[in-house]
Amino acid sequence: RAKREGRGRVCFFETGMDRELRDRRLLQHDLRHALEQSEFQVYFQPQARMDGEIIGFEALLRWNHPVRGFVPPDQFIPLAEESGLIIEIGDWVLRETCRQAASWPRPLQVAVNLSPVQFQTGDLERSIHQILLETGLAPTRLEVEITEGVLIGDFTRALNLLRRLKALGIHIAMDDFGTGYSSLSYLQSFPFDKIKIDRSFILNLEATPQSAEIVRAVLSLAHALHIPVVAEGVETEAQRAFLQREACEVMQGYLIGRPEPIERYADLIGINVERRRYA
Ligand code: C2E
Ligand code: MG
Ligand code: MG
Ligand code: MG
Repeated sequence: RAKREGRGRVCFFETGMDRELRDRRLLQHDLRHALEQSEFQVYFQPQARMDGEIIGFEALLRWNHPVRGFVPPDQFIPLAEESGLIIEIGDWVLRETCRQAASWPRPLQVAVNLSPVQFQTGDLERSIHQILLETGLAPTRLEVEITEGVLIGDFTRALNLLRRLKALGIHIAMDDFGTGYSSLSYLQSFPFDKIKIDRSFILNLEATPQSAEIVRAVLSLAHALHIPVVAEGVETEAQRAFLQREACEVMQGYLIGRPEPIERYADLIGINVERRRYA
């Protein structure tokens, strides 16, 4: 149909669904070349203790598409997972993040998101090991964030892999806690180093009494298990004050800082901006 109409012409009868599918295919195609074209960049979002002290960063992948500009990870990560490209991309994110973190004057923690696909296929353990050796980053400075998707599927295999990563000294964080189907049961299977309360609960803290109760419950559960909690998506002083009252350990969100290239946080990682500029 599209062929008959000639190249570059949008078919009049194309439905919304057709368009969406075509768009996904185009994006998937472009994704194949994104690595070699250096279109990816790692942004860093600070994590702070409740007194404001910065303790580390979460690495968040950005794709700067030559025509579309920045494509959100929620749009291209699923495509990368479907095509298996996430293995290569995931390795790149790990290497780039560890390389950068190893060069910071202050030995802060860095967290990297891992896809379930990286656990199922590829040799994640070997990659991580290799990257740590190559970059010289201390394993204890690396944290990996997983969602419950990692533990669905080959549960035993994923669990064993997590155990071996933890044995290397790498920290393991449970991301988006509270949004999955069985987050609770995973807490008894693995000694997570951190629990990240999903942003949706923090967002509704003030408006929805239920959210406040859920946040309280997660904090009390995590504390009973001696697991520190990170609140995601903290945007307001009221949210921060609530979390501090409830003894949450760490916060992350626009109130502290947005994901940015690390240069924007030069002072936090211990680079004296003035000196560097005039050196
Ligand atoms: P996530 O790991 O839960 O990351 C937190 C997301 O919340 C980030 O979105 C971050 O920019 C956003 N965020 C942080 N603070 C606030 C806030 O105060 N307000 C609001 N409205 N948003 C906030 P982002 O960067 O768009 O990433 C979305 C998701 O994409 C991530 O969720 C993660 O699941 C995935 N992702 C990002 N980078 C990678 C990666 O390198 N590998 C894999 N596998 N997934 C990644
Ligand atoms: Mg995360
Ligand atoms: Mg999250
Ligand atoms: Mg998320």
